[in-house]
Amino acid sequence: MIPSVLPTYNRAPLTFVKGEGSWLIEADGRRFLDLGAGIAVNALGHAHPDLVAALTEQAGALWHTSNLYQIPKQQELADKLVAHSFADTVFFTNSGTESCELAIKMARKHFYDAGQPERTDIIAFEGSFHGRSSAGIAAAGSEKMTKGFGPLLPGFKHLAWGDHEALHAAIDERTAAILIEPVQGEGGIRPLPDHCLKGLRALCDDKGILLILDEVQCGMGRTGRLFAHEWAGVTPDIMMVAKGIGGGFPLGAVLATEAAAAGMTAGTHGSTYGGNPLGCAVGSAVMDHMTDPDFLPEVNRKASLLRQKLEGLVAAHPQVFEEVRGSGLMLGLKCKALNADVVNAGYRALVLAVPAADNVIRLLPPLTLSEEDIAEAIVRLDKAATQIEQTLG
Ligand SMILES: *Cc1c(COP(=O)(O)O)cnc(C)c1O
Repeated sequence: MIPSVLPTYNRAPLTFVKGEGSWLIEADGRRFLDLGAGIAVNALGHAHPDLVAALTEQAGALWHTSNLYQIPKQQELADKLVAHSFADTVFFTNSGTESCELAIKMARKHFYDAGQPERTDIIAFEGSFHGRSSAGIAAAGSEKMTKGFGPLLPGFKHLAWGDHEALHAAIDERTAAILIEPVQGEGGIRPLPDHCLKGLRALCDDKGILLILDEVQCGMGRTGRLFAHEWAGVTPDIMMVAKGIGGGFPLGAVLATEAAAAGMTAGTHGSTYGGNPLGCAVGSAVMDHMTDPDFLPEVNRKASLLRQKLEGLVAAHPQVFEEVRGSGLMLGLKCKALNADVVNAGYRALVLAVPAADNVIRLLPPLTLSEEDIAEAIVRLDKAATQIEQTLG
């Protein structure tokens, strides 16, 4: 008999009832160190007092009015995002998937209005992840996600990661945009080198097409900059954001330049919940923290500390781990043992990590984790790795 919750997830037998900073407390009282942060969502950790205050204050005043009316918290958050990014304008969504939907619509509408309606194709990359809607799975294109769900939304081309020649050959008079994650998350924490992102920007400028960055996972401070593309010193035309921006409250956004967004006039797009007062009150509080001048330097300091210790862990367990990769606090441990086994051994050692493709485990801790949390992370990961070694004999 089908479970009452549609069984599309293989869930671990863990039930968390409370969160505190980098820690999750299981119903039986065990304390787990959370290096997954709900898949890069709880950027400020669990139950951050400022986010709890922002949410409860808004909850006591007003939950929802719809986008038929002015929403001051939405305006406030949009102004903050515009002030701290390349963007001139923002549309709020409830998820990364919805951000992907709008990014694609926006790119196509841009060229439609520019008198180039034939430019509808989006070039995307193997190993990418852009959400689970019909457009999102068509954009990612992997068989794992698309099989059985056809016919797929047309207009996507998929290229191998890093194949420059194929990329140049793929751009033609039907191309509207290149869509890419500056650091692939689900794909196994694969950072796009800065010079490649620079090259993509130059290529888009040269060909007169748009650059769409999916920063749903790598954005919002995750790599040590507010947005990952800042490391390369270039900006996109359209950017998708979600996950960390709500700190755990469902919130996403599409940020765009005025030129890219020009076609999105009244009536062309909408969302009942998108940008609602609750989500934007929390998002605004998240932005206040992340734009505090001390915040990102601290993230970078913690990130190098964690990375350095992870290098030691990998060296100490060559049968279990192969390498550390990633950027900032978006780190991956490429495994030699089966990544699922390492994640399960982590559960027994009371530490949470998230599996990814390419036999990687992802470490996406709260950006606020402490030095003690980092030390504890290494102790627990070491314990997990030792367990695996014992099973290898
Ligand atoms: C998680 C993710 C998405 C989808 O976001 P949802 O909020 O799950 O819809 C899209 N792109 C990337 C890069 C992601 O990591």
